[in-house]
Amino acid sequence: MADDRLRMQDPRHQYPQPPFPAQPQPVPGLAREMDPKPDHGETSYQGSGKLRGRKALISGGDSGIGRAAAIAFAREGADVAISYLLEEQPDADEVIALIEAEGRKAVALPGDLTDETHARRVVQNAADQLGGLDVLVINAGHQQAFESLDKITTEDFDETLKTNLYALFWMAQEGAKLLPPGGSIITTASIQAYEPSTAIMHYAMTKAGIVAFTKALATELISKGIRANAVAPGPFWTVLQPSGGQLPEKVKSFGGDSKFGRPGQPVEIAPVYVLLASQEGSYITGEVFGVTGGEGIA
Ligand code: NAD
Ligand code: MG
Repeated sequence: MADDRLRMQDPRHQYPQPPFPAQPQPVPGLAREMDPKPDHGETSYQGSGKLRGRKALISGGDSGIGRAAAIAFAREGADVAISYLLEEQPDADEVIALIEAEGRKAVALPGDLTDETHARRVVQNAADQLGGLDVLVINAGHQQAFESLDKITTEDFDETLKTNLYALFWMAQEGAKLLPPGGSIITTASIQAYEPSTAIMHYAMTKAGIVAFTKALATELISKGIRANAVAPGPFWTVLQPSGGQLPEKVKSFGGDSKFGRPGQPVEIAPVYVLLASQEGSYITGEVFGVTGGEGIA
């Protein structure tokens, strides 16, 4: 309940704690099949007009952190385009309905962002269909865990770099051409940029790359009045994890070794995306915002 989420309470006990049931799904997975269901803010995020009239594109907006940002942006008054993979249409349909329920325009842009033509077109299509683009959230990500270094395949290494770095680079290039002064680009990095885990070391490598790229992007784009920042999540309860992002055993205890004893829920990171997108964040650029459950980033 909306009221309940904002009621003052001990945050350690606000959301489900492990153990979680085993729930493997093929990549990219569907949020709607998770147990317990993540809280993306469907009934709990309250807006207050912070993005009234803005036009935003969120990659990976069908599920997880991107879905939480999409719901929050719509509740704050923005029209929202989401990009996602075709297999994720059932999740995307739910998000489109939630955006439209706020009386905002929703645009669905399915397709594979590892294809350069598609990645570039998605940004242009969002701007065409929304009538401009003010906020670009480059959030889509690929993460697959392996037992050890020698087990990481070249195929997955390639998929990880293509999704997390190439697609991000292509989308940022297109966004930089389109965004007006006051516009905002937000990337999703990870605590993995600072505290890499061996099982996902190639993923961690891309997240460190996102931090470096976003800082340089911010330096260049402020000359056009555009801000760019990265968000660095810790463990969040999203379908990225049971669809191969963690080794299956680890899903059952996911987030249990954080200071909170639980993973974050996507709605708990949405306010940071809203701040960075909105004019309230007018002096914030080139920053990395950790939302890690107390682990910190350095
Ligand atoms: P998620 O699986 O819900 O979202 C990732 C999305 O990426 C998918 O929904 C999919 O639409 C998109 N995607 C993946 N490959 C794609 C491709 N080839 N083409 C188009 N879209 C593609 O999981 P999430 O945890 O919400 O992930 C969002 C971001 O957060 C990712 O960048 C992830 O690396 C990052 N992140 C997540 C965590 C966590 O614990 N969940 C922690 C740190 C960082
Ligand atoms: Mg998804």
